[in-house]
Amino acid sequence: MNSSFTFDHSYATRFPSMVRPVLPTPVASPSMAILNEPLAKELGIQATESEWVAWGSGNQLPAGAHAVAMAYSGHQYGHYTQLGDGRAIVLGEHVMPDKGRVDIQLKGAGITPYSRRGDGRATLGPMLREYIISEAMHALNIPTTRSLMVVQTGEGVWRDDWLPGAILTRVAASHIRIGTFEQLAKGGDLDLLQDLLGYTATRHGFNADSNDVIIQEMVNRQLDTVMNWMRVGFIHGVMNTDNMALSGETLDYGPCAWVDEMRPMVVYSYIDRWGRYSYQNQPSIALWNLGVWMDAVSGLLKGSEGVKAEKLNQFKIDARDACERKWTRMMANKVGWVDVESNDDVRLKQLIGLMSRHHMDFTNTFAALTIGEYGAFESIIDMEWGEWMGYWQYRQANQDTELGRRLMRENNPVCIPRNHWVERGIKDALEGDMSLYHRLLSVYRNPYSVTIAGCYRIPPTPDEVVVHTYCGT
Ligand code: AMP
Ligand code: MG
Repeated sequence: MNSSFTFDHSYATRFPSMVRPVLPTPVASPSMAILNEPLAKELGIQATESEWVAWGSGNQLPAGAHAVAMAYSGHQYGHYTQLGDGRAIVLGEHVMPDKGRVDIQLKGAGITPYSRRGDGRATLGPMLREYIISEAMHALNIPTTRSLMVVQTGEGVWRDDWLPGAILTRVAASHIRIGTFEQLAKGGDLDLLQDLLGYTATRHGFNADSNDVIIQEMVNRQLDTVMNWMRVGFIHGVMNTDNMALSGETLDYGPCAWVDEMRPMVVYSYIDRWGRYSYQNQPSIALWNLGVWMDAVSGLLKGSEGVKAEKLNQFKIDARDACERKWTRMMANKVGWVDVESNDDVRLKQLIGLMSRHHMDFTNTFAALTIGEYGAFESIIDMEWGEWMGYWQYRQANQDTELGRRLMRENNPVCIPRNHWVERGIKDALEGDMSLYHRLLSVYRNPYSVTIAGCYRIPPTPDEVVVHTYCGT
């Protein structure tokens, strides 16, 4: 264990035009809201609470930090925009005991050269939300940025009302986004763009044999992450290209939510008026975002303009095919089918249709199949459902049954951070009582355990249903 971070700054050193040095703005009277002790241990750091608070508030830079805001642009709801870290400051890359490298970033640490009209600040509710949901995603075995701590600033932040200010310390494999590539591609310096592609590939362990291979690996990684979201009913809510990390980690938890009752087009985000980022749209949006990224790096493909265009087109077609295949495999895992047969995509879409028709709970339906709670289906009077279940049992019986069961256990969580519980935990926390928040956190750290889930598995009553989530920027 070390007493502080071990910083390096490979990104800032190699791409000075992509960062701007900036210092966190000190805050009045910081205090710890929550510290992630297990994560601190993984990072190999042991510090006193007052040291953590000093670092997590931005009031003191840890030794070796070189604070910067990162430049990037991105497509927001389909429209290109110049962005950059408006309220986030990267302190450096911490080199872990196992030599892994993670960005340490303060979110809400004050204005930066990219703040535009924003105040550079964040509020306690949304930061506690990012903390609990990112930790839940990690426990669900989904690649994600982590949350090291939330520090209250002791200052008010104006959002239609005075709200308590807070800063989240985020730990990420990197903060290189699709929007980072968009920004560099716009500058037109192909050598620098190639350098970024190579750097990203090395940093994130892509097979970097050629740009073509890197593109394929990136497609795989992005699609795998989104399929993981689909697997657990997670709705990111703001799949803008500036929120899509090349590492494949789920990045930027704003108005995200979870499917309760199966409604494929469900949207919670208050600002997503047209349902662009609904549950069901996520794979096609991922493809759209990958298309933006491939366009950005297309200048690096070899050959004449015609050859490049053809290659680019083929990459996009391949990505679409891979997406279909991955969706079917992911769903087959959920129903425990070891082999994918030719008509399975149709059968699995039929299941989604049946679940929607009967207003079935997404998580509990798959959990019931997994742990044999068939009583949950007794009230469903529908021939098509009966036939589907009959076929499901037939498939189970005619394969390696134990392997099928294992697939289900590993892919179907018993308990997800249901929207109404998360809201309740945060509401209590804002009123000074963190007990429910801590209880939820411990349940969400064991999402595949039936014994731990308890009442937190129960879907919301009509009164409890959360209709909208807010990004809180
Ligand atoms: P997001 O929707 O959280 O990904 O944010 C989109 C952009 O708005 C990013 O460039 C953020 O840095 C910026 N932003 C969000 N909130 C603030 C804020 N309070 N002050 C300054 N910039 C912000
Ligand atoms: Mg963002």
